[in-house]
Amino acid sequence: MGGEIIQGQIISYTEMTALVGVSLQQGMNFRLPGGPVLLMSRRPNAPYDDQIEDEGRVLIYEGHDCPTTSSCPDPKKVDQPRNNLGGSLTQNGLFAEAAEHHKSQGVRPVQVRVFEKIRPGIWAFNGVFDLVDSWVADSNGRKVFKFKLQLNHWNAGLVASDPSLTEEDDRIIPGWVKFEVWKRDHGRCRKCGAHNGLHFDHIIPYSKGGSSKSPENIQILCAKHNLEKHDKID
Ligand SMILES: [Zn+2]
Repeated sequence: MGGEIIQGQIISYTEMTALVGVSLQQGMNFRLPGGPVLLMSRRPNAPYDDQIEDEGRVLIYEGHDCPTTSSCPDPKKVDQPRNNLGGSLTQNGLFAEAAEHHKSQGVRPVQVRVFEKIRPGIWAFNGVFDLVDSWVADSNGRKVFKFKLQLNHWNAGLVASDPSLTEEDDRIIPGWVKFEVWKRDHGRCRKCGAHNGLHFDHIIPYSKGGSSKSPENIQILCAKHNLEKHDKID
């Protein structure tokens, strides 16, 4: 698949592994050959926990808990760690350090690819984001890391391969909407039933007043039917 992936595209876990070059074992992955990757997945009992701001261009991602060990038997009760026991940075620390470096030195933000789990083995590509900020927040009596990620429309090659995607249509579809649409469309192209090359499509484009937050305005299309549709609109 190389650089062909576009925002909203639906891929299998195997395709995601091929794309990032390794099998991902955790949500936060700073040191990957192709740059950092964040995985989003819906937590049980929290169907609306996506934090999407600025009309779908900004994502707030929460850091990871300490791994469950004898010294940390209840990860949800302790602060999220910046350092490992030996002193090296955790994934929280690595991402936080990069965001701090951007803020204090004015260097170009690190670019992060974000994937979201739709169901076991099925992932959606949420896009390439700039990591622009991080802070520590209080959450039920403990400290958690927060990371602010801004959609990077101009990332080389990734969205440029689909000229029909304009900046105005390039919005994050909330996870709960993706889940609803996946269920409703049975994980197939709505026009032809194809299982492959799928992605989430805005029925009415964002730039024409269509919403990203309503399952009624989102559908699954295969690559062929997506192209046909955009040819007609343009
Ligand atoms: Zn189709």
